[in-house]
Amino acid sequence: MTENVENDYKILKLGNPILRLTAKELTKREILSTEVQELIPKMWDIMNKAGGIGLAAPQIGISIQLAVIKLESDSDRYDNLEDSDEFIVFNPTLEVIDEKKQGFWEGCLSVPGLRGYVERPRKLKIKYLDQNAKDKEIIVEDFLATVFQHELDHLFGLLYVDRLNSTKDLVFEDELTDMASEKLLD
Ligand SMILES: [Zn+2]
Repeated sequence: MTENVENDYKILKLGNPILRLTAKELTKREILSTEVQELIPKMWDIMNKAGGIGLAAPQIGISIQLAVIKLESDSDRYDNLEDSDEFIVFNPTLEVIDEKKQGFWEGCLSVPGLRGYVERPRKLKIKYLDQNAKDKEIIVEDFLATVFQHELDHLFGLLYVDRLNSTKDLVFEDELTDMASEKLLD
């Protein structure tokens, strides 16, 4: 698990087989280990430098069930957030609460330059362990639900391109119309 942690912050791209693995669940003891605790700020750092709103550990070559998500709260797209807009998620499980689909133009740090219109269930219950290895259970909906599903897919070997209804819904981001970009996830 350690090989890539120290200095190599390269974000893996579509085609790298590590992105296609189901990532390993961590024990509570492993979550609390120095190694994993030190990885968390590195994940934030890599995500911020890359300009993402989420990052999953497999994207940097570490195949463990860890993802971080941070939404800027100053946008009206994020008005469903309650007490926190930062999430550190270990060993998640997802349960769909509302099957009704919603679509966003998704982007991914592992698929640079492209956007895809993906429809996903609009409301879910997420159970996970936080950075203190404490059980968490949250309800996510609307845009946040899509962000969670996108990031947690990374822990199960899936990318948004697998969720496209049609390859016609995959475009280069500089070809997106103004209207389409209103639904941008980046
Ligand atoms: Zn992604």
